[in-house]
Amino acid sequence: MDHRELESYFRSLDRSFFLEDDMKSYACLDQPLPIGHGQTISQPSLVLEMTRLLSPEKDSRVLEIGTGSGFQTALLAKMSAQVYTVERIAELMEKAKKRLEALGFTNIFYKAGDGSMGWQEHAPFDRIMVTAAAGILPDELVGQLAPGGRMVIPVGPPSVQELKLITKSDDGSIHEESMGLVRFVELKGKYGWAE
Ligand code: SAM
Repeated sequence: MDHRELESYFRSLDRSFFLEDDMKSYACLDQPLPIGHGQTISQPSLVLEMTRLLSPEKDSRVLEIGTGSGFQTALLAKMSAQVYTVERIAELMEKAKKRLEALGFTNIFYKAGDGSMGWQEHAPFDRIMVTAAAGILPDELVGQLAPGGRMVIPVGPPSVQELKLITKSDDGSIHEESMGLVRFVELKGKYGWAE
């Protein structure tokens, strides 16, 4: 991944574009902010850090779970070939889609539904970014990661999670590395927390 391209695109993105009117004036704060339905847009420095960890390449097919506002999706779509993004709250998905289309992205595929199950029809994925917290690493997502692939996912109880970097080697073996503590909203669904 070209880190300078990522950082320059990150700096050029207007975060207020991804927020509702009542939150726009807080856009420059490096903290999570409400986007409705009890969900949040993540802290920008963490979005950048997680994208660096995921390290998508220009030919990568990326699965993103938890579209939210679409801010993280924009970074992924800029840095990769295609992004398959899944959001369980249809209204958030629709708003994010409008924003991302207005930015001119044509390489993003959208699904409203339970992303804890991944998106089997389009698997395997070279990269998987999960922006909601799973209690345990969902086997289903590991299964949809391509050999040589990378996944970034917060894993742990609702109070605090470890940010994990999962890598799958060419022979299919899995390596897990803990990259620090984070706090995300819950990944709900079949392979997440109960609805
Ligand atoms: N990356 C987003 C952004 O930049 O705005 C923030 C994502 S927010 C922290 C987490 C999102 O994950 C929420 O929008 C929530 O509805 C969604 N979510 C939770 N469980 C999900 C699931 N099983 N499938 C899809 N989305 C899910």
